[in-house]
Amino acid sequence: MNTPTSLIYDKSTPGRLGAHLEDLRYSEQDKQKWLPEFLRNASAPPLPEVTEGEVMRHYVDLSTKNFHIDKGFYPLGSCTMKYNPKRNDVAADNPSFGTAHPLAPESEVQGCLHLLWDLKAALMEISGFPAMTLQPVAGAHGELTGVLIMKAYHEHLGKPRKKILIPDSAHGTNPASVFIGGMVPVEVKSNAKGLMSAEAVREALDDDVAGIMLTNPNTLGHFESEIIEIADVIHKAGALLYMDGANLNAELGLVRPGAIGFDLLHINLHKTFSTPHGGGGPGAGALGVSAELEKFLPKPVLRHGMPSTGDSKSASESPSEFYLDWDRPLSIGRMHSFYGNFANAVRGYAYVRTLGAEGLRRVAENAIINANYLRVLLSDAYEIAYPGACQHEVVLSASRQKKNGVRAGDISKRLLDYGYHSPTTYFPLIVPEALMIEPTETESRETLEKFADALNKISKEIETDPEMVRSAPHNTPLRRLDETAAARNLDVAFLPEE
Ligand SMILES: *Cc1c(COP(=O)(O)O)cnc(C)c1O
Repeated sequence: MNTPTSLIYDKSTPGRLGAHLEDLRYSEQDKQKWLPEFLRNASAPPLPEVTEGEVMRHYVDLSTKNFHIDKGFYPLGSCTMKYNPKRNDVAADNPSFGTAHPLAPESEVQGCLHLLWDLKAALMEISGFPAMTLQPVAGAHGELTGVLIMKAYHEHLGKPRKKILIPDSAHGTNPASVFIGGMVPVEVKSNAKGLMSAEAVREALDDDVAGIMLTNPNTLGHFESEIIEIADVIHKAGALLYMDGANLNAELGLVRPGAIGFDLLHINLHKTFSTPHGGGGPGAGALGVSAELEKFLPKPVLRHGMPSTGDSKSASESPSEFYLDWDRPLSIGRMHSFYGNFANAVRGYAYVRTLGAEGLRRVAENAIINANYLRVLLSDAYEIAYPGACQHEVVLSASRQKKNGVRAGDISKRLLDYGYHSPTTYFPLIVPEALMIEPTETESRETLEKFADALNKISKEIETDPEMVRSAPHNTPLRRLDETAAARNLDVAFLPEE
């Protein structure tokens, strides 16, 4: 049984020390010189006074109460919480990368630029796009970059357009990115199979539609089977086809989005290409574009060879093999400082090089097999939202369980008692009582079977003792939180009252 954890401040005892700092014995005069009076605090900062051992135990204890992928199965749909090999972290921790200064001249960070170049080449090969930027630092940031490029494309043609079509099954970041990019999101309804039909797209099109943003496979875990026709309809209307690539892990080595008609695609490196991201970051949202859109990419653009003009900042110092090209008159501008989240790029690079083409293809195949295995194991107890073989994730509906007064959110909380992270709950929005499960390729058959056992047991509990599920979780350090208050009244300052 887990007990709530006290704060480290509660463990503080005056005078106790975890570290012994040397007495530097500076004269009052020296101190005045280096740290004048007005920069000094009147009193010592209110830090906890604890020994090194107490600090260690406090944080190790916390780490075991917190759920993470290294502790257990994490079926959070759409987020691709796969196990991330530690060798990627070792590569990113390499001091040669870690100590490189982001303002160092290009001639001194040729190795870093080389890595970015090779990663970009690999991602372009995998996704089928002839150009790419690694600047965006999240999937949503890649979407925003894509929206700005779509806008710039139409403006450049002298025919600005305002609307971007978005399926009703889309992730919330899609309409948000469109809105922040100064465009107008327009919802398009999925058909009875949960898919986007070319017919629905055709009906939604007009002269003001700049493009459509599709997730493929979509958030229901299904491949958009009319995609070739949709691409045709969109392009005939002079609009662009954007792919939200958060689910690209289902397509590695199997489908190249750039080859089936997509004009833009973001790749969540932290999902598909393996960076721990359970705490909400950091991320990387590489954006691939067609040859026609290359000129709008954020600047600077990484190039290989000798700078032809003096536009590269370091060109005058020493001609570099890899350099940053700032001479981009049609660029949408800068989307992030320096090189984006470089450490994520290192992890992605290490991951691609470790697996190779064959290994990446197996990632997709096994992700699909695992999701379908769960689908079959769970389909007696739960309704499958849109039946039929799925891709890398399966969406259940707890509407049958709801008849006994237990909701999807209650089932998610009861799973915590069984030692699992909750699935994605109440998303996609078009599925009532949605439970969205993405096992990923890194889980064994035995793990999947145990997880399915737990969900199936919960379904039985709902028949015999619904109150027990409704009041879950019972074994976690904290029980039900006030989710509204948690979102509205943020209290992240744990410093004791003065
Ligand atoms: C995760 C996700 C996003 C947003 O990506 P972030 O990297 O979290 O910004 C967009 N669409 C889908 C389908 C996703 O799963």
